[in-house]
This record gives sequence, C-alpha cells and structure tokens, in this order.
Amino acid sequence: MQNIYNISVEQVKGIGSQKGIILQQLGISSVGDLLDYYPYRYEDYRLRELHEVTDGEKITVQGIIYSQPSVQHFGKKKSRLYCKVYVGKRLISAVWFNQAYLKEKITPSRELILSGKWDQKRLQLTVSETEFSIENSKVAGTLQPVYSLNAKIGQKWMIKVITQALEQYQDHIPEVLPESILKKYDFLSRKEAIYALHVPSSVGEGKQARERMAYEELFLFQLKLQAYRSLNKRRADGIAHEVDNQAVVSFLDTLPFSLTSSQKEVLREIMRDMKSPYSMNRLLQGDVGSGKTIVAAIALFVAVKAGHQAALMVPTEILAEQHLQSLQRWFAPFQVEVALLTGSLTSKKRKDVIASLQMGMTHIVVGTHALIQEDVYFRSLSLVVTDEQHRFGVNQRSILRRKGMHPDVLTMTATPIPRTMAITAFGDMEVSTLKEMPKGRKQIKTYWVKHDMLERILHFIEKEVKAGRQAYIICPLIEESEKLDVQNAIDLHAMMQMTFSQLRIGLLHGQLHNDEKEEVMQQFHDNKVQVLVSTTVVEVGVDVPNATVMVIYDSDRFGLSQLHQLRGRVGRGEHQSYCILIADPKTETGVERMEVMTETNDGFEVSRRDLEIRGPGEFFGTKQSGLPEFHVADLSHDFALLEQAREDASFLVNQPQFWSDVQYTSLRDFLQRQDMFQSGLLD
Ligand code: ADP
Ligand code: MG
Repeated sequence: MQNIYNISVEQVKGIGSQKGIILQQLGISSVGDLLDYYPYRYEDYRLRELHEVTDGEKITVQGIIYSQPSVQHFGKKKSRLYCKVYVGKRLISAVWFNQAYLKEKITPSRELILSGKWDQKRLQLTVSETEFSIENSKVAGTLQPVYSLNAKIGQKWMIKVITQALEQYQDHIPEVLPESILKKYDFLSRKEAIYALHVPSSVGEGKQARERMAYEELFLFQLKLQAYRSLNKRRADGIAHEVDNQAVVSFLDTLPFSLTSSQKEVLREIMRDMKSPYSMNRLLQGDVGSGKTIVAAIALFVAVKAGHQAALMVPTEILAEQHLQSLQRWFAPFQVEVALLTGSLTSKKRKDVIASLQMGMTHIVVGTHALIQEDVYFRSLSLVVTDEQHRFGVNQRSILRRKGMHPDVLTMTATPIPRTMAITAFGDMEVSTLKEMPKGRKQIKTYWVKHDMLERILHFIEKEVKAGRQAYIICPLIEESEKLDVQNAIDLHAMMQMTFSQLRIGLLHGQLHNDEKEEVMQQFHDNKVQVLVSTTVVEVGVDVPNATVMVIYDSDRFGLSQLHQLRGRVGRGEHQSYCILIADPKTETGVERMEVMTETNDGFEVSRRDLEIRGPGEFFGTKQSGLPEFHVADLSHDFALLEQAREDASFLVNQPQFWSDVQYTSLRDFLQRQDMFQSGLLD
C-alpha cells in the first residue's frame, strides 16, 4: 500500500504546481493532508416541502415554471428577474438578482430545481442556484461540503479535487485505530469515514463519520499523553525526598487552625509523590479560598527539611509579596530562609539573592515565573510550586530539565477545571482536588443590581466598614486600553473619597510603582485603608480575610471565571461576605453571566457554565494552555467520547506488548508522524 502522506498533492489529477503552492498555504502538501482536510460544515441541498420550511431558511425545492419571466434592469449591471413557480400545490414567487441571462431558459411548464432564501410572508424565494435538468442535478438532494479556504481557492474546485483524490487514493487510506476498538464501538473504517465526511450520503452517515474521527483525534491525543506519562514514570531520575514527619507535625502545631480533611488528603498524595524517585507532576485544584497556600507551604517545608531548596512561582508581584509575608511568618520559628525574586528588585539585591540561592543559604524563593528562566541557579532545587497559573505546562518543565534539574512540580489553580477538561489539558498530570472549604466559612451572598442602585450600595459599604470590615471596589474594565482603565480607577477613587470623607480609600492599578502597590496593599492588610478601589490587579490570590464586600462595576464585561476569582477575594474569614455586581448588560451573554454568578458559588459549576458560554478555545486561551486545537472533536460536547478515548488509550499503553506488537505498527507510525517526538512531549 502506498503511503499517501508521502505522495505529493500534485499527483492528484487537476492539481498543477500553481494550485499546489496555494494548497500548501493551507497546510496541505501530501495527498494524505488533502484527504484529512475535512469540511467544517455542509450546505443542505436536500429537497424540501414548503409546509416544513421556516422563514429565512436556505432551502432547495423542485418546481414547475408557471408564468412568463419579467426582467427589470437597474443601471448597467443590476437586474431583477421574476416569475411565478409551482412548488407542490403552491404558487410562489421566484426572484433572481443580477442573473438576467437566465431569462431565455425560463419558459412556462419547464421543471427546475431552485435553491435560495425563503421569505415566508411574501411566499417568495430569492434564488441563488438554479438547475434545469432534474435527473442530472449535481447538488439537489445532497449535502455539499463547505471547506475553510483562502481567497485563491473556490469551494467548487476544492470539492472537485477532493473527489478526484478519493477516486485515485481512497484504497490507500490507512487504518489507524486498532481492530479491537473498531469492533468495540462498531466504528466506520478510516477509509469509509473520510469518504463520508467529504461526500456524505445522509446526515446520519455524516454524524457517524464525524464521531469516529473525533474519537480518533481524542484517542491519539490521549495516547500521546499517556505514553509520555508511562515513559516518564519509568525514568526514576527525580528526587526521593526524605520526609521529616516530626518537623511537619510541629509545624502544623504552630498554625492557628487545623487542616481540613481535604487538605490532609491532598497532602498525603503530594507527600507520596515527593517520597518517590519519580518526578512529581501534580495539579492541585481547589476553589478560591479553599486553602491551597498552606498546602503549598507544607510541601515547600518538606523539601527544605529534606535538605533541598524550593521555589514558589506566581503570576503577579502583589501575590509574590503576599506569599513572601505568609511564608516568613509561618516559617519564622523553623530557621527556613525565604527570599523574594522579582523583576523589580535592584540589581544589587537581585545579585545577593541569586548568590545566596547558589550557596544554598536561601531555602525558598518566591517570585514571578521569570525566576527559573534566567541566570538563576540553585544548589539543590527539588520542588517547584506554581500558584494560580493553570497555563503552565509541558514547556516549563522542559526548561527545568534542560537546566539539569528534575524537581517535583506542583501546579495550583483556582480556576477549577471540569474533570474532563483537566484530563485533556493535563492528561500527563496527576490531579488532586480540594473538595471542601475550611470550617466556619459562610456562603458569600451575591447580588446583581443596576447602576441606579449606587446610593444604596454606598450606604451598605459604609455600614460594613462601621462594623469593622473592609471593601473592594473593582472598576469597569475597558478593553484594549490600560490607560482608560487607570483613569477610571482614579476617577472612581476621587468620587469615593468625596462620598466617604471620614474613611481611608486606597487606590490600586497596574501603572503604580511597585513600592506604591506594596504600600497600599500593606495598608489594606492592616485595615488602615478600609475601601480599596482597584482594577483587576487584585484578581488572583489576594488574601485579606477581614474584607467582606466586593463591588464590581460593569461586571457584565468580565468573564465568568474572572468574576468568580474576584468574588473569591471576600468570604475568606469568619464574617458574612457580599459580592455586589453592578451591571446593566446589553448582551445576552452579559445577562447569562450575571445569572450564573447569582445562582451559584461553586467554582466548578461556574467554570462549567463558562466553558459552555465561551467554548473551550477561548476558555483556555488555547495555545498557551497546552490544550490542543482539535479539528473534529468539540470538547464542549464530546465529553463522553473523551472519557472513552482516555480509558482505551490508558488500557492500550499499559499492555506490555503495545510498543512491540506488529498490529499497532500503523498506529505508532501515525503518532510519529504527528510529531510526537519533536513536540517536546517526549523530551
Ligand atoms: P486559595 O486556595 O484561594 O489560595 P488561601 O490559601 O489564600 O486560598 O486561603 C484562604 C484563607 O483561608 C487564608 O486566610 C488561609 O490562611 C485560610 N485557611 C487555609 N486553610 C485553613 C483551614 N484549614 N482552616 C481555616 N482557615 C484556613
Ligand atoms: Mg491562592
């Protein structure tokens, strides 16, 4: 059998070198590429009956011409051709724009097939395609594929060459899925499925084909991840920590609270990984406020007590500063040295920190993620924790490996990801989940109000502050203009100062100097500032348990996950907390977001709904997330298929004979061609 992925697309009759070059711009160079270029939708030319169609639909009908045509001309190029046509028992109007040349052919009693847009009120069809021979109709009754093309290639040409390619090469389309799986699901063969995607004979067949190819895509992806994981497992080049249980117990004794059983459980999972000689790669997910920081702190502590160093990476400097303070406070009695390393250190300070890390005098470094990428070396780095950064994947780990270090990696995220998503995006990671909140937390009460309620909101803030609490006010977000964001914050701050002349109002935005940011955060922490007007810079991680009110201006402009993150800044202590969403949404999505927020406090539910509204691509910010873009599979619908694919892939990879069995040769070839070994997945 010829390998269609090695045959140039120009071998297909009708494709010359010129078109060959244009196809290459679409990523098509081999015959195999061409056949794998599936349509993204179908134009439906099945014949319809008028009683079943709806207004505005694009329909195809068969009819008999009833009246002589009439033509009106407007200027040189524009025209309107008109006649009456019988469709079934009904007489309708047919209108052709700028196709006056059809007039000769339109003669009463002649049969024809018309496609176009249906106007129910006027019983009128605006015709875009006309065919006069009923028997030899090319499109009537079919589903015509529509491909995503550039300006230099037309749909008709594409359909023609793909049909030609199928004729020449369909018998050489290799099967990829193992026989056992084809049988298990009664799937079409790859050849049948590809044929049906390009030339579906019915909607049902098209669906069947789509499902098979979606499964294949998910299965191959899972297989890669699982293969990576199983190979990685076999490589015992990680650090086997000696866990000092005694030290951990005495550390826990110093905390003002005891761990929740969820925290204990995930710690057991983390400890198990840290003890093992294989590198840990674990995702810790837990809703905002579930107490991930202390879990991280204990893991860091364990690494240090085992004689190594550890790093805590965070996305913002505010968060780095906050974590530094928590860690210094917690570790004060235990001779653990913690340092800060961010872009805004003076070069002298930076040098000192780096030197002290290199000598092993600093045990833990907290910083933004640049800290592992630059000229920073450790004496013995054994654990890297990243906080609030679910966009940290395979890539970063290879950076560490290239530095010759194989530390354990713990990634923490408060953007809870539905399980199906997690296993897809992070199929090569173990996942731990914090399922419960610390005891004594009250549910945050969320209200959606219109702008005209401002008076009452201000009143409410005042009342809370008088009771000793604090409030955040988040400014509207103006897309694409940080400058306007900042101006907004400044204006709102001025207004609040006027309204609450007896209170201290802080202002926080991205263009402040770092020490200014630090100072205002410190004052808010110490309740010297009661109301903090801020842009979304406080979005992630900020922890001031005494704050009980979160007001978000124009909240319909924020994404759901972001709103949930912002809401998570309150409700972190024992007091009843409130989230007030000010919005007069103008879009349906905006209304939907407000509804979701008032309906649920559960981050998993919020992100599930977010995923539904936005779709997975935008949800994850595809490229950076490590989540691949699938062509056929659609993660917002193909949950069940994904679970199946994962199970099957896992079963297969764990078969001892898998990598040697001849029956999987084509599967392995396929993986190889998909750049498995170049993509960094297997580095
Ligand atoms: P997140 O998971 O959002 O990062 P944090 O780690 O910032 O949450 O924790 C939120 C707050 O809950 C912090 O003030 C923290 O000290 C506190 N906390 C954490 N664990 C517990 C616990 N088991 N009992 C009581 N309070 C806790
Ligand atoms: Mg946090």
